[in-house]
Amino acid sequence: MQKPFLYFDNAATTPLHPKALDAMMPYFTEQYGNPSGIYSIGRDAKKAINNAREQVAAAIGANPTEIFFTGSGTEANNWAIKGVLEASRAKGSHIITTQIEHHAVIYVCEELEKQAKNGGSPVEVTYLPVDNQGFVSADDLAAAIRPDTVLISIMWANNEIGTIQPIVELAEIAHKNGVIFHTDAVQAVGHIPVSVQDSHINLLTISGHKFGAPKGVGALYIRKGTKIAAMLNGGAQERNRRAGTENVASIVGMGAALQIAMSEQASELARLTAMRETLIERIKKAIPKVTLNGATGDRRLPGNVNFSFDYIEGESILLLLDMNNCCASSGSACSSSSLEPSHVIMALGAPHEQAHSSIRFSLGRLSTYEEIDALMAILPKFIEQLRAMSPLAE
Ligand code: PLP
Repeated sequence: MQKPFLYFDNAATTPLHPKALDAMMPYFTEQYGNPSGIYSIGRDAKKAINNAREQVAAAIGANPTEIFFTGSGTEANNWAIKGVLEASRAKGSHIITTQIEHHAVIYVCEELEKQAKNGGSPVEVTYLPVDNQGFVSADDLAAAIRPDTVLISIMWANNEIGTIQPIVELAEIAHKNGVIFHTDAVQAVGHIPVSVQDSHINLLTISGHKFGAPKGVGALYIRKGTKIAAMLNGGAQERNRRAGTENVASIVGMGAALQIAMSEQASELARLTAMRETLIERIKKAIPKVTLNGATGDRRLPGNVNFSFDYIEGESILLLLDMNNCCASSGSACSSSSLEPSHVIMALGAPHEQAHSSIRFSLGRLSTYEEIDALMAILPKFIEQLRAMSPLAE
């Protein structure tokens, strides 16, 4: 497929895989049965959901009965946090997370704290710091655990800077202290090896649209025996834990896309890592005064490149790129029109300006070296133009 634009925003979302679409099509048309129906087209839809459940479970080494479909990664994160808190009130209400989580974790915690302040149920949250590459310290985690800690939520890989946490080691610390461990693995699943086997991960969040499935479908892995309240009450769907008639086509698409991603994972990991390194080197060589944000080598997501460009605002680069049909993104919350600097880059201990001037280029299945050539034909020029106008540059 010829792309009419340069696409460097695969961490935001990915194109639907054509084979996932093929798998989904019947469920938009003739296979419209309600999976709760006892007649054959209902039973077929239920079978299709359970087939997808097996595909998702296989991808992370889980049992299919431990996979619960949700409406998004955001919903799965909300469920993990609020569901564990609700089920653990007798023990306490202290949560540990990090300063670099996605807003789908941080804002949930902040909202709970706000409600507690306004007379709601008590909650206390510890936001662990990270080092200058974005790593959480195992010692900091161990030191933060209290007798009333009910949940630890640490992301597998960061969406902005690509840093991959030593999740199995961190989950072990939680387990030793009898605390439930959740990981937001939205940026990791399908792209790098992720397994709940031989680990003490209790809960793991997945989002379909990050690996070629449609938007608006996700899953929460819930290890057998983990105490968690239901997400939605109503019908008996998802074993009474997430009521609502299932999004059959999207669930089928998610299972198919993840199975394909898993079959291509080793080759894509190698291909994208090499491409990432090429882009990093080319930017460093062609543009002065840049800082690579995040970790290096195999502790960085294969498709993640994140640079700060001294003296300029990330948004102004994005606008110039957009005018030239090139999609990338910045960590700033421009979508919420607040122009706050990236909380992730700030947490690395970087100055405000570095957080304001960060741009993420994220590679994916359809990325090519030709696209990198095309980007590098315009990016250095744009940076030079913007710096010439910047009052910050000499
Ligand atoms: N967590 C992380 C790390 C993400 O990158 C995203 C999406 O950007 C989400 C959660 C939210 O997933 P969804 O878009 O499915 O709600």
